Amino acid sequence: MAVVGLVALAAGAAAWYLVGTASGRAVLLARAAQAVAGGPVAEFDGLRVLLCGTGSPLASPGRAQACVAITAGSSLYVVDAGAGSHATMQLSRQPTRHLRAVLVTHLHTDHVTGIPDFNLMSWVDGRPAPLEVYGPAGVERLVGGFNEAFAPDRSYRVAHHGAELLPPELGVMVAVPIEPGILQEGDGLRITAFTVDHAPVAPAFGYRFDYRGRSVVVSGDTVVTEGLEQAATDADLLLQDVLSLPLVRAVEEAALAADRPRVAKIFADIPSYHAHASELGALAERAGVRMLAVYHFVPPPRNAVMEMVYRSELPDGTILTRDGMAFELPADGTDIRVVEP
Ligand SMILES: [Zn+2]
Ligand SMILES: [Zn+2]
Repeated sequence: MAVVGLVALAAGAAAWYLVGTASGRAVLLARAAQAVAGGPVAEFDGLRVLLCGTGSPLASPGRAQACVAITAGSSLYVVDAGAGSHATMQLSRQPTRHLRAVLVTHLHTDHVTGIPDFNLMSWVDGRPAPLEVYGPAGVERLVGGFNEAFAPDRSYRVAHHGAELLPPELGVMVAVPIEPGILQEGDGLRITAFTVDHAPVAPAFGYRFDYRGRSVVVSGDTVVTEGLEQAATDADLLLQDVLSLPLVRAVEEAALAADRPRVAKIFADIPSYHAHASELGALAERAGVRMLAVYHFVPPPRNAVMEMVYRSELPDGTILTRDGMAFELPADGTDIRVVEP
């Protein structure tokens, strides 16, 4: 109790200093200025990739669900927006007013439930047009449902902050159902959607970004296929869904031993629709990928032993991503800079 009392006293003294003195207020303002400062969008020409979520439906502290933010020049795209992923964007100071679209790989919850956060926060940040959500057939239903579900929230925001700051029409998302192929070409950027195999989820896509001589491929959830290999051909960076079969089998066995047959059944099913870590070295080599980075871990490594299992299955040099990690690929260059969170 005495220790708790001392800590409370020290915290109280710090709070008094911060709000009650001129130098304290200066410290507080400096911290606030850091928090609201714009991110690196306008400062870097090339492809910049931020991992806003490296997890999967299996919870893991410090990992949001699937999300990859890609900046090309001054345009920002987000591939998937799983639960919690917008918080990583905010903490990484990404100015989401530049957000051009959310590109959904498929309609599993761990790839889409964060979309309303991106919509709200980019609207507040001054996005000049309605947020477009590209995705496979069914995206209209998803986006229509979100728009309907969050109508009350939008009305409160407009009532509170005013229609001049938050034009109501910019708060309503627009669904764009897509087919595989080139989605967009211009300003040096080409975005291509390709079909992946995540059966029974179909259609499911991955996305390739090519910008001024640099390329990044996001696999989405998929087993290793020829189509994925083709799409990743000569890519600078492949961000790849990954499953560790030894870890999944261990959980299945433990669940059976603990008399939890439902968990065991799920873990017996999931290896059929994710890429196994042991196959990724050969995939990256066949495709001529320059850097392999894995995300959407099934299951997410939560300790050094699990990380060792992943490393033992993956080729040397593979990056095991974490939330907030970034990759910088300067335009017309060859470097790939890995920026730790
Ligand atoms: Zn997933
Ligand atoms: Zn999935």
